Amino acid sequence: MRQSQLFTKTRKEIPSDETSKNAELLIRAGFIHKEQAGVYSILPLGLMVVSKIKQIVSEEMKSVGSTELLMSSLQSKELWEKTDRWNDEKVDVWFKSQLKNGTEVGFGWSHEEPITSLMTYHVKSYNDLPVYVHQFQNKLRNEVRAKAGIMRCREFIMKDMYSYSTNEEEHMNFYNKTIEAYKKVFERVGLGGNTFVTSASGGVFTDKFSHEFQTICDAGEDNIYVHKDGKLALNEEVFNDKTLADLNVEKSDFEMKKAAEVGNIFTFGTKKCEELGLYFNDSDGEKKGVFLGSYGIGITRLMGVLAEVFSDDKGLSWPKEVSPFHVHLVRLGVNGTTVSFADKVYDDLKSNGFTVLYDDRDLRAGEKFADSDLIGIPVRFVISDKTVAEEKIEVKKRKESESEVVSLDVALKNL
Ligand code: ATP
Ligand code: MG
Repeated sequence: MRQSQLFTKTRKEIPSDETSKNAELLIRAGFIHKEQAGVYSILPLGLMVVSKIKQIVSEEMKSVGSTELLMSSLQSKELWEKTDRWNDEKVDVWFKSQLKNGTEVGFGWSHEEPITSLMTYHVKSYNDLPVYVHQFQNKLRNEVRAKAGIMRCREFIMKDMYSYSTNEEEHMNFYNKTIEAYKKVFERVGLGGNTFVTSASGGVFTDKFSHEFQTICDAGEDNIYVHKDGKLALNEEVFNDKTLADLNVEKSDFEMKKAAEVGNIFTFGTKKCEELGLYFNDSDGEKKGVFLGSYGIGITRLMGVLAEVFSDDKGLSWPKEVSPFHVHLVRLGVNGTTVSFADKVYDDLKSNGFTVLYDDRDLRAGEKFADSDLIGIPVRFVISDKTVAEEKIEVKKRKESESEVVSLDVALKNL
């Protein structure tokens, strides 16, 4: 893409009420636009990152056997009443409204109830199970606080997956496979080293049914305790003498760190399906309740965490796997040979399958480099009147301060 065609502009100023680093950088670099507190629109560069994250999540969800669907945002009060989750005292994030005829409706903050109800039309016998489905959907939540930029929003993109199994063993098998798939997701987006699976409720890992994926990050709203071996981490709520004794570890070997919950997985057992009338006929002819599991990943929160973790005083610094483009081609100078060489490199890169942001604008070098650092594409190719005589390119990686002047063939090896 030619940067002259990109309608978004980088900004020096940020909204005065914006206090979080992730939103500040993403707004200044033109990835998101703030509509109101906790509500952001996603601009073209941001959408490219979101799409990369979604692609990785999508591949890993398909690898455990899930298929994608898309549920509605408008939801029926009746379904949520069946499970006692319509009540604002039980669920404090509901946005609710009314139809013209007075019928109350809710805006989806999660989808267990409607999707389980939907399954009653499709699941009748043990032959129809297990079922694994997921979606990428905008969730609406009336959050009290919205000060963490896109890490805590009132409207945000979530990947939510639901599993329907015939019994606990089948369920746990899928649950454990999903833990592994989630680990792959966080590794692939570049956060493998600082993301921990923590047990979220109950005492011991084995007998309780909720796990969180927590990424170490100063802007995170949770505290976790990380063991010095770097492999074990515990949530604040389970960091107690009983858990430590059960795990045979010492309190003094743990260090508290700020973390952001990037994913969350739950076991619901059969209760919710029974409340919503989802049963199946087993091979022995008996009518049984279905085992439900629910698995979330905060797609836009993940973009915020990536912006927090991968950035410096100059701007963003995307890991290759989620960067909006593979390379930022920056042209300095406007003389004919420079322009035609840069245009040719742009075409060559594209025909080699690379995505390129081509800064073809007629601006000062300093301004172009500042924008490039702010946007944070991992590799920059600079073509100037100086390098063009030898048909060379100056290659600079976002994370390094040194650059090298090489031929296109050599430059390609950096991508
Ligand atoms: P939190 O404790 O942070 O409020 P939660 O327990 O409410 O999270 P879930 O309902 O399990 O979260 O949602 C699944 C995932 O969606 C979370 O792990 C998180 O990554 C993301 N998420 C939850 N709430 C928000 C929000 N308000 N803004 C952005 N992402 C969110
Ligand atoms: Mg919440």
